[in-house]
Amino acid sequence: MLEYPPVMKVHPRARLLQTESAFGVLARARALERAGREVIHLEIGQPDFPTPKHICDGAIQAIRDGKTGYGPTPGIPELREAIAEAAGRERGISIDPSRVIVTPGGKPVIFYTVSCLAGPGDEVIYPDPGFPMYASVIAHCGARPVPLLLREESGFRFDPAELRRLISPRTRLIILNSPQNPTGGVIDRQGFETVAAESRRHGFAVLSDEIYQQFLYDGEFLSPASLEGMQDRTVILDGFSKRYSMTGWRLGYAIVPEALREPFELFQVNVVSCAVTFNQYGALEAIRGSQDCVRAMVAEFRRRRDYLTAELRRMPGVRCTTPAGAFYAFPNVAATGLPSTEVAERLLVEAGVATLAGNSFGPGGDGYLRLSYANSLANLEKAVERMRLFFERLAGSGAG
Ligand code: PLP
Repeated sequence: MLEYPPVMKVHPRARLLQTESAFGVLARARALERAGREVIHLEIGQPDFPTPKHICDGAIQAIRDGKTGYGPTPGIPELREAIAEAAGRERGISIDPSRVIVTPGGKPVIFYTVSCLAGPGDEVIYPDPGFPMYASVIAHCGARPVPLLLREESGFRFDPAELRRLISPRTRLIILNSPQNPTGGVIDRQGFETVAAESRRHGFAVLSDEIYQQFLYDGEFLSPASLEGMQDRTVILDGFSKRYSMTGWRLGYAIVPEALREPFELFQVNVVSCAVTFNQYGALEAIRGSQDCVRAMVAEFRRRRDYLTAELRRMPGVRCTTPAGAFYAFPNVAATGLPSTEVAERLLVEAGVATLAGNSFGPGGDGYLRLSYANSLANLEKAVERMRLFFERLAGSGAG
C-alpha cells in the first residue's frame, strides 16, 4: 500500500495560541438556547447598547459616498488626527497623529506590540488573572510569559515588590491593563510610578491596555504614558469597541512611540492592509459627536455594578469586592469547595446563567467567576435570583 505524508502538519508555534473562553461559552450557551433553554448571558464582554445612531449614520453615509476601497494602512488622516487630539486630552499628553495606528479592533495591538518587542530568550510580564490573549500571544512569539499575580486582598492590584522580583535582564515588555479585565481592578498611581521607574531603569517597554478607560467608577484615570519619560516607552491600546458599543465594527487603535511606527505599519500591511474604511468614518463621528451616550452608558453600568455586587455578597459561599472599573464582577466562590470551572459549568446547565470560570484568565483566577454586567438590569435580576437559588442549593447539599 502507498504511504502518503500527512495532509497538513501544523507548526508547533500555532499550537501555542490559546482561545478566549468567552467565545466558547457563548457558543455553548447558544446551543442550549437552540435546544429550548433560556440562558442569561453574563459571559461575553460587550456592552448591550446599540451603537449610537450618529455613528451608524457616519458609516452609512461613507458607504453611500463610495468610501468602500482600501484606505491608508495606518488609518484615514482625519480619524488619526481626531484620535490624537482626544486621546491626548484625556491623558494630559501631546500626541502627534503620526503615532496613531488605527487597527481592526484593539486585539491586533497586542499582537503587533509583542511581535515587535519580544521573541525567543525574552520575557514578558503580564497580569494574572488577565485577558487570555496576553499569555497566548507572548508564548506564540516564542517569549516566556511571566505572570504577575493580582490578589483580591489588595484590590487586585499588583504588589510592587513582587513586580521588582520578576524583572530580569531578559524582560522586554510589561503588559498593564487598567481598568482591568477580568477583575475590574484599577492600578493606582504608586503602581504606575513603580512600573515607570523600573522601565526607565531596565529599559523594557510597557503595553498599556486602556480599552476600559471610560469605565471607571471611582478615582481618576491615569495612563503610564503621562509619567516622566514614558511616552517613548509606552504603547497605548484603546479603541471603539467598549466605549461606543462597537464591538462588531472591529475598530481600535495604538498610540506608539516613534520607534514602533514603521514596524506597526508593516505588521498591519502584511496582515490586513488597513482597518475597514467606511467604519473609520463612523468612528470619526463617535469622537466628534456628543459624549453623552458614553456618560449615560457608564452611569447605567455603575447602577448595575452596585446592584450585582451587593446581591452576590448575600449569597452563601460567595465573596465579592466592588470593582472600581470595567464592567465585570469577579466573585470568589472558593468557599463552595468546588473548582470554579465546575461552578461555571453547573451554573450554565442547572441554572441557565452563562459565566466564565476565573481560571480561564490564568491560574491566578482560580476560585473566581467572571460575570459581565453588560446586560439589562431586568436580566441581571433574573440571573441573581437563579444564582441565589443555585448557591443556596449548593450550601444546603453540603458542598459549601
Ligand atoms: N483588551 C482587553 C482587556 C479586552 O477585554 C478586550 C476585549 O474584550 C480587548 C483588549 C480587545 O478589544 P477589541 O474587541 O477592540 O479587539
